Amino acid sequence: MSKNVIPMIVEIPKGSSNKYEVDGVSGKIKLDRVLYGANFYPGEYGMVENTLDWDGDPLDVISLCTYPTLPGVEVDVRILGSIKMIDAGEIDTKLFGVFNDDPRFKSYEKLSDVPQHLRDEIENFFLQYKALQKKTVVINGWGDQKEALHELEECKERFVEYKDRLAKGQRDMILEEWKAKGLGQG
Ligand SMILES: [Mg+2]
Repeated sequence: MSKNVIPMIVEIPKGSSNKYEVDGVSGKIKLDRVLYGANFYPGEYGMVENTLDWDGDPLDVISLCTYPTLPGVEVDVRILGSIKMIDAGEIDTKLFGVFNDDPRFKSYEKLSDVPQHLRDEIENFFLQYKALQKKTVVINGWGDQKEALHELEECKERFVEYKDRLAKGQRDMILEEWKAKGLGQG
């Protein structure tokens, strides 16, 4: 498999307004919240196992798909780029791609192959989805495939560095330390 194709664990199927996430401790799929507004995920949303982003969670992925799957399903995603998002002051990058095994996306190899409107729709979703929670999301543009894969490598290395402490339940302590050092702030 080429190195830009990576396994994503689906947490939220396309079209859902329920925000499910894999619980870092139990591994169960848990309902985090129902989105406050009448918003729904414009793509399949999930994470990459054994990674750690600056928000204390595994690296997020949003992928175009034709038909929604189910929470907990592993899907091979062809990464095309990233969305450089800042969520409540924390760096919270999303990898962006397409289902590698959906022939409808065969011709999508780089960001510029994606219709602009689909990208606009995804960007607009993230800008809006926390509006009724009075939380602000900022998007500092999109990264290309190279930048996205670099981000993935960094999150893998960070996971290796912190996995023992995460297993001991020190996630919040780690976030406090980063904040004090100004790390991962947008
Ligand atoms: Mg995140």
